[in-house]
Amino acid sequence: MKTVRTIPRMRSEVGAARARGDSIGLVPTMGALHEGHMSLIRRARMECRFVVVSIFVNQRQFDSPSDFHSYLRPLEDDLAMCEAAGVDAVFSPAAGEMYPEPPLTRIIVSNISERMEGAFRPGHFEGVALVVAKLFSITGECRAYFGEKDAQQLCLVTRLAADLDIPVQVVGCPTVRDADGLAMSSRNVRLSADDRDRALCLPRALFRVRDSIEAGRREVASLLEEGAAELRSGPPDSIDYLEVVDAHCMSPVERVESEVLVCGAIRISGTRLIDNVRVSVAGSPPPAAVSYDPRRGGIR
Ligand code: AMP
Repeated sequence: MKTVRTIPRMRSEVGAARARGDSIGLVPTMGALHEGHMSLIRRARMECRFVVVSIFVNQRQFDSPSDFHSYLRPLEDDLAMCEAAGVDAVFSPAAGEMYPEPPLTRIIVSNISERMEGAFRPGHFEGVALVVAKLFSITGECRAYFGEKDAQQLCLVTRLAADLDIPVQVVGCPTVRDADGLAMSSRNVRLSADDRDRALCLPRALFRVRDSIEAGRREVASLLEEGAAELRSGPPDSIDYLEVVDAHCMSPVERVESEVLVCGAIRISGTRLIDNVRVSVAGSPPPAAVSYDPRRGGIR
């Protein structure tokens, strides 16, 4: 496995792989890798001949300086996990390599970026769009793997690639949860045992709304009342939002008529947690849940 620090070297590694006829898989991450990331890496490994994982804590997408500074950066562990997973190259640039000077270019993916995470984290999606556009430009034609855990981000990068004719096929991968239901996240390590117990109100609320939709309920206002009551049972320190949105454009819906996402964000002891579940109605069954089974060392 190669560890690459510069953009020209990354271009030449990917270029050499492409010249050999290899398909390219890109998994963009901010490191502190866990089983959620590994599920993306394994999928890329299955589908592509040359797999690149990028590890870059992109300051431009943080709306809170303390969140940025306290973000874990266990690079040696991350590299070992990538190596064990058969990754071909890790792209781990310094901030000055990605942004030698403050960029003047701004990428705004309107509509998709305006609600939920966009509303609660000013500038977040501009930061995401810029770094993802740079990673796509550096890697070139490839399949790029993103988690449904960050569904709004997944929707946004899919649209970014389409709008700009970037030859990248964005692949969404199911959310990986711990056995207690909490979606895996690099930020979960900051939770104490009590915080974690309280955090479980988030998946509980989302699952409850999902179950009610699957039982035939359609009116979003009453579904959200039920979900909010479950959320408050944590209790979290605060609730940023709980919404039911169209799964394809992220716009809120009043009635559930097609595939929707139930999305929520809460704060617990200074840590912000987001999660969502996908619910299909009208005949199309939702995709099977995926969780990590530590005994089997894999996804089931
Ligand atoms: P991050 O390092 O948090 O920027 O995440 C890198 C990628 O991993 C993003 O595409 C995330 O959506 C994805 N990811 C993070 N957590 C999970 C999870 N629990 N399950 C699936 N994908 C995830």
